[in-house]
Amino acid sequence: MSLQGRILVITGNGKGKTTAALGTAFRALGHGQKVCVLQFLKGQGRYGERLMAEKTPGLDWFICGRGFVFIKEKIDEDRQAAREGFALAEKLVAGDQYDLLILDEITYLPLYDFLDVEEIVRLLAGRPPRLSVIITGRQAHPRLIEIADTVTSMESVKHGYEQGIKAQQGIEF
Ligand code: ATP
Ligand code: MG
Repeated sequence: MSLQGRILVITGNGKGKTTAALGTAFRALGHGQKVCVLQFLKGQGRYGERLMAEKTPGLDWFICGRGFVFIKEKIDEDRQAAREGFALAEKLVAGDQYDLLILDEITYLPLYDFLDVEEIVRLLAGRPPRLSVIITGRQAHPRLIEIADTVTSMESVKHGYEQGIKAQQGIEF
């Protein structure tokens, strides 16, 4: 059975974007589909989801970026990491190995002028027909919203962080 790939955007300021994408990965894996996660602008760290990915067949995981963005002196490094990550995304799409590709935090690339949004649009337009793509991150560019078939905005009603609750293992990382 050949499925028509979808484009989903999960944006907004509330918590739950990356984890919603990973919930969809879990769903796809259950059907024996092949899933790839590519994380932009995130550093290496002991994120529970990555530790789980290592033990999960059918799920490939790539990280680009140093984790700490928007320090003025380091902006060129961030730009380069972002561009390298995007080149990897192009390779992963062209390889046609996956049913679902999650481009986690990719919204920040056009937002910080690391990449022209039209490059993302082109990549998605030229993807293999069966490939679904989930884009996550705050402030998704209007063009990404336009080309997606499904767009969700997470609204923050409140977040523990605002009450002084620190990032917690199993919930935040
Ligand atoms: P999650 O990874 O938990 O699904 P997210 O992808 O929606 O969250 P990001 O914008 O990627 O959130 O932020 C990453 C981290 O910031 C997460 O640890 C998350 O808990 C935290 N965070 C998300 N939303 C808020 C918020 N409104 N206030 C403070 N911290 C937040
Ligand atoms: Mg996220």
